[in-house]
Amino acid sequence: MALPEPYIEQMRSLLGLPEAESFLRSYEDERVFGLRLNPLKLNRVSAPFRNLEEAFRLEPVPWCPTGYYYDETARPGKHPYHAAGLYYIQEPSAMSAAELLAPAPGETVLDLAAAPGGKTSQIAGKMNGSGLLIANEIHPARAKIVSENVERLGIRNAVVTNEPPDRLSARFPAFFDRIMLDAPCSGEGMFRKDPDAVKEWSPAHVDMCAARQADILDHAAVMLKPGGTLVYSTCTFNRSENEDTIAAFARRHPSFELRRIERIWPHRDRGEGHFVALLAKSDDGMPNADLGAASRMHSNSGRAGRKSRGKDAAESGADLALFQGFADESLPGFAGLGPGEPLRFGDALYWLPHDSRGRFGKDALHGLRVARPGLHLGDVRKGRFEPAHALAMHAAEEAAAWVQSYPPEAPELSAYLRGETLPVMAGSSGWGLVAVDGKPLGWGKASGEQVKNHLPKGLRRP
Ligand code: SAM
Repeated sequence: MALPEPYIEQMRSLLGLPEAESFLRSYEDERVFGLRLNPLKLNRVSAPFRNLEEAFRLEPVPWCPTGYYYDETARPGKHPYHAAGLYYIQEPSAMSAAELLAPAPGETVLDLAAAPGGKTSQIAGKMNGSGLLIANEIHPARAKIVSENVERLGIRNAVVTNEPPDRLSARFPAFFDRIMLDAPCSGEGMFRKDPDAVKEWSPAHVDMCAARQADILDHAAVMLKPGGTLVYSTCTFNRSENEDTIAAFARRHPSFELRRIERIWPHRDRGEGHFVALLAKSDDGMPNADLGAASRMHSNSGRAGRKSRGKDAAESGADLALFQGFADESLPGFAGLGPGEPLRFGDALYWLPHDSRGRFGKDALHGLRVARPGLHLGDVRKGRFEPAHALAMHAAEEAAAWVQSYPPEAPELSAYLRGETLPVMAGSSGWGLVAVDGKPLGWGKASGEQVKNHLPKGLRRP
């Protein structure tokens, strides 16, 4: 691979001569491939996991308990288990940052630069459906990809926003227990995976990235609550975007303490380049801002507001009754929605998750661009409820009134993924789930001899 001369010089001065040569030789090595299990849907004692282990020749990634290397020829993106959200395909080194962030159920977490959603899905797995995860991405098309991944992986407690960091920090001061900033960077660690990234590289581009990272980090600092933790990561090697950026940040924000730095190197480890820094904000880092005040500013006020709130409440009650009616019939074992509130976007009915301290609700999102305000339950049209694909992906097999489950190689499964109807199995009637080895792929509606296919058109395979 032809690398820019200033880049080679930079790496020689960073690593010293003998090691730089072994680093540069690593560009000739084969790249490695990784996937991460989705613990919301799959555990390691299940049959689907054993099938995966064998089919893809999985080997554990040392720094991530749910991460595995897979055999290059395996093509896991084509397997029906992928459509069922059982795993996320992710470069192994990129799995290190969320491990260091270590979010827990019940916390309030922000993934500030989230697309395509690798770290979001890893964080959501650790939160296990409890607490609030805001996954933000500045570019609209990329925010949509985060939203699709959140849906496929069955995550119920994530809100996907599409905002620049300054608009979020104005809305959420001192709000999050943990923040992940996987920053846009010059991508030096991706040259082997994506040779086109080399063309964009220049010392000036590195400087531009470092300035942008400083700016985004300052907004992250505002949003982290005292006592909270921040992980900053990049997939680049140079010091300007890594150690120097963190040192300058710590100088600007004395309430932050650097706890740990980890680097992954392609010539030392089985993965591409990655840098991760863990920072903690002291308990007296900032007065505890009152988000309630911010959200009250955006809520309706006065008589007209009270009137429309009354109407909203009546509509929400009616929407929820429709959902409940559907769930009673078609998802009798549904575990419940968790803390939150119903939210209508046009015809679409969502369940907006609340944070565990009761500071977050729909007013907090007012005026922000939102790609997914929580779990999409279904669409309400003319008083009728039609379940959303996201609800199928979130639901457990045991919850459904009926499940038609097939092994991965069954022709019926390929037919379902192409959008075709299926023959009805005994006991299927009305709405139910079509599944691969018991893991839901989407809705079907059984009537007469046929199960009508309700897989969204955009997800059907040719
Ligand atoms: N965390 C993601 C994952 O694990 O899948 C990868 C994030 S990627 C390294 C960085 C992201 O930052 C990109 O999606 C990019 O669109 C976004 N970005 C670009 N400019 C930004 C800015 N000024 N503020 C915030 N995010 C930005």
